[in-house]
Amino acid sequence: MVKNRFFLIVATFISLMLLSACGNQETNGGTEEDSNKLQVVTTYSIVYDIVKNVGGDLVQIHSLAPIGSNPHEYDPLPQDVKKTTDADAVFYNGLNLEAGNSWFDNLMETAGKDGKDAPVFLMSEDVEVMYLTTEGNEGEEDPHAWLDIRNGIKYAENARDGLIEVDPENEEVYEKNTEEYIAKLQELHDNAIQQLGEIPEEERVLVTSEGAFKYFSEAYGFQAEYIWEINQENQGTPNQITRIVDIINEKEITGLFLETSIDARSMEAVSAETDVPIMGKVFTDSLAKPGEDGDTYLSMMEWNIKTIMDGLKK
Ligand SMILES: [Zn+2]
Repeated sequence: MVKNRFFLIVATFISLMLLSACGNQETNGGTEEDSNKLQVVTTYSIVYDIVKNVGGDLVQIHSLAPIGSNPHEYDPLPQDVKKTTDADAVFYNGLNLEAGNSWFDNLMETAGKDGKDAPVFLMSEDVEVMYLTTEGNEGEEDPHAWLDIRNGIKYAENARDGLIEVDPENEEVYEKNTEEYIAKLQELHDNAIQQLGEIPEEERVLVTSEGAFKYFSEAYGFQAEYIWEINQENQGTPNQITRIVDIINEKEITGLFLETSIDARSMEAVSAETDVPIMGKVFTDSLAKPGEDGDTYLSMMEWNIKTIMDGLKK
């Protein structure tokens, strides 16, 4: 017991150290060495990680919406405005992700980065866009393209092209980093196709709170079901709960999934109402905290694939 407690204290201490070392993905800029690096701003943790893999040691990144939060809505802090104003390049998802209260557009305007030649790069450039279908949102772009790893590869290529545009001297480094990174992403995509294909087709139904898995489902042969289609106001209304409960009963679904960046209560209500268990947490709009499983884009996708496999295979 005493020993256990000792380990707990040590573990807590170490994780606090790690958090203070790399928490917030902050740059805390200002040191001599840092000022030699390309100053980059990203809108949330997934874009952060992909740009980091492409930029490596050449970039110093300030990421806006914190880990664990919902990037659909964000209130930039004064330091975000300053870092964005000073940034050599800004990378964002687009497809309406950073659209809540127009937070991203407003930030770009305040930071003087809304002009035609501003170094602001769209990670989802060239992605085959999917659209929302629920009433009131019909025809709007679905932002969650990164959950199809083939799109993650496009994001990496777009990050590479953006970095080369603002820092052409280091083109070779960015090319090399991207090539190595894409090889890993491609391997994970191929494994996902193979592993998830082992789940019988009629059981490949993915129920989550937000309907974030459209692109994923298209890529890996699933049907995506959800309580609400996109994070915005009116999440988990009685009508939405009743609708998904009916679908779960009708399709005889055996497992539900809960996103890490979403309040658990709605999915818990659905689980209680249907007696269908929540099989695990999945990552959609945020990475895990540094040091935890899912703290990179690659490992969050790995985690999702394994959790879905374990949750749905008999
Ligand atoms: Zn989302």
